[in-house]
Amino acid sequence: METLNKLLAIDLNYIIIGLIVLFYSLEQLLNTQFQFKKRPQHLFHNILFFGVFYLLNLVWAIVIVFSVEWLNNNQIGLFYLFDLPLWLKLVLGVMLFDFVTYWFHRISHLTPVLWRFHRVHHSDTSMDASTFFRGHPVETFLWFGTSNIIAAGIFGLDLIALGLYFIVSTPFFFLEHSNIKFPVWLDKTFGLIFTTPNIHKVHHEQDQFYTDSNFSDIFILWDRLFGTFKYKPPEQINLGLKEFEEDRKQTFWYLIRSPFISMGRITSGDLKKEKK
Ligand SMILES: [Zn+2]
Ligand SMILES: [Zn+2]
Repeated sequence: METLNKLLAIDLNYIIIGLIVLFYSLEQLLNTQFQFKKRPQHLFHNILFFGVFYLLNLVWAIVIVFSVEWLNNNQIGLFYLFDLPLWLKLVLGVMLFDFVTYWFHRISHLTPVLWRFHRVHHSDTSMDASTFFRGHPVETFLWFGTSNIIAAGIFGLDLIALGLYFIVSTPFFFLEHSNIKFPVWLDKTFGLIFTTPNIHKVHHEQDQFYTDSNFSDIFILWDRLFGTFKYKPPEQINLGLKEFEEDRKQTFWYLIRSPFISMGRITSGDLKKEKK
């Protein structure tokens, strides 16, 4: 318990900065999966998203802590009906935060107004670990932040479980977006339960048939259970969204405004017609 408390006391921002430095270095040293046209610019625009995240999180973290503590103090949620050992509560806690996020992510692909914000994350045409930062702040805080509060309310999860969920999920996010070649055998073993980088990159494929799949962040189990798992070999994947391909649409400023810009979604059918 003491080790866990020490772990949870580490500021998440330090973990994030440590991990981006680690993965960015690994991407220089190891075999990369994709070629970059303008890597420094790409990093610069994605880092700006992290800057906004950092600033807004100073406020949002207080909202989350206050809401979850209020729910816990009023003993709201399923876990208050059972007497579970601490370790099981923590394991289930991490799984259930991931489970609720799976549904929030799936809904954001299905609902046009939410997709306008979520497509910012999918807009990256050349991906590396910094793509994890590329998420519209409205979505990151209001939508996915609320998903954590709702999970805590339904299942009776506390701040320790939430802290652990962040510590487990953050390395997954970096790994999943990193521009490193991962072997396919990983997808056939580890990928039966967990989301591997190759499996998450299928979710970043341009073709909507694949974009609307593999929504899970940690446990790919949810996609397998609810029929949204799909696979495509990594070398056949075209990243990004057709409607965001131009260079001017890859800047921080354009992406921040993009939910308020009307643009039709280029679907699988359109892509096939284009190829003919
Ligand atoms: Zn998505
Ligand atoms: Zn992603």
